Amino acid sequence: MSNFVVAIDGPAGSGKSSVSRQVARELNFGYLDTGAAYRALAWAVMEARLFSLDNLQIALEDTPTFERAFGYQISTDPEHYFVRVGESDVTEQIRSSEVAEAVSAVARIPVVRDFMKTLTRAIAQDCKQSGIVIEGRDITTVVAPDAQVKILLTADETVRLKRRSIELGEKSFAAVVRQVSERDASDAKVVDFMTPATGVTLVDSTNLDFRQTVSAVCALIEQQRSKGI
Ligand code: C5P
Repeated sequence: MSNFVVAIDGPAGSGKSSVSRQVARELNFGYLDTGAAYRALAWAVMEARLFSLDNLQIALEDTPTFERAFGYQISTDPEHYFVRVGESDVTEQIRSSEVAEAVSAVARIPVVRDFMKTLTRAIAQDCKQSGIVIEGRDITTVVAPDAQVKILLTADETVRLKRRSIELGEKSFAAVVRQVSERDASDAKVVDFMTPATGVTLVDSTNLDFRQTVSAVCALIEQQRSKGI
């Protein structure tokens, strides 16, 4: 992995993707969005029909064949973010409400989670920057428990719903609730990303704007770096 790892977990609408990406830009670090891989796999099940939900477990028994069929690629450059599945650029498609509503069913399959852990570590390993910000749900606890900086970024549910509904534009409030509260409830059955594990710092952005949240995260990183960790 890059020398310096910043692991950031948090629920939907906590702002972790935009904050992580901005922190990576400011520090000249790599940026790895791990939710994109789960979304891309859900997309591959729904749209590309590369796998069915029922045969994922069997398909994953032969990892090299699965990897070739999936053909997943993600950029770790915060300035040039893209996500690909084989020849298809799915950067936009994986943000659809259909994918958001289907992704938890894929993410709860244990062999999928094992595959994603290995995949995430391999991508982080390839990153040439001096540090990397990895964001998701289980980064501080499962994927990179030894990260130099471990943060749980959260905000009150009403604030998260409001932020996501601004992001989604015209979408109905019911669709926003499905994409934030229902998805979190489903995801939380598999990984606990609502309470910080030992050694994980809680950053509550309920009363912070974007800039203040980025500064809070950068301050925690600087604190660790100044200790020479
Ligand atoms: O972060 P994002 O909303 O893009 O994540 C999409 C989905 O991927 C989550 O709802 C969750 O089901 C899954 N996920 C996960 N573990 C991660 C990152 C994402 O289970 N580390």
